[in-house]
Amino acid sequence: MPSRPLTRPTVVPYVALWDSEIPGLESDLVLRYRPQLHLAYKDERPEDRDPHGTLIGRISSSPEQGQAVYSEMHPSRQYECMLNLWCQVCQGPASENEDGVLFLDWRTKRSPSTWPEKSLTRMPPLCEPCAVRSIAECPHLANEPTFTAVRTLDPRAWGVVGSFYRPVRGGWYCHRGEAWVPYGDTRLHALISSAMVVELTDVTRVAVEDLAA
Ligand SMILES: [Zn+2]
Repeated sequence: MPSRPLTRPTVVPYVALWDSEIPGLESDLVLRYRPQLHLAYKDERPEDRDPHGTLIGRISSSPEQGQAVYSEMHPSRQYECMLNLWCQVCQGPASENEDGVLFLDWRTKRSPSTWPEKSLTRMPPLCEPCAVRSIAECPHLANEPTFTAVRTLDPRAWGVVGSFYRPVRGGWYCHRGEAWVPYGDTRLHALISSAMVVELTDVTRVAVEDLAA
């Protein structure tokens, strides 16, 4: 399948990371022992955890300063969009109709045989105009052969993508690679989340031509 030429996006998605945004310090991490052993921040604030109690990675917030890092999402902005069903590009309400909320999705090694039904995604939903523009401009989507637009009647909070940490002499060891861990898994006590993951259920495929630009 021939690749479409890559073009520079005209809009920086709301969820995109900017290179001026700096990760928090590992020295801010501590272990707490009650009610069970878990990772925490020394000066933890309510916004440091998601609604399921998972620790969210701290990154400073300075959107539109520096260069956009299109391939990465700011954890707090990603959570905002997933939890509120905001468009990941313009921060407005995501498109929703009788078939559900609009997402863009593609098959991955993790996809179930039922894909796109029960697909797991960290990519927040979109409004129709931003979906059309993303399809036209996103280099990743342009070259992703299984890409599809879907609506889901039940975008379920499934879990998170994150990194496991454990204390070592003089600091912390961060396990290589990211882990996809469902809510309810006890290993979440040792993980810092970089994104919330939603399971797309009751899915209907949407023809891109049917989306309003
Ligand atoms: Zn939008």
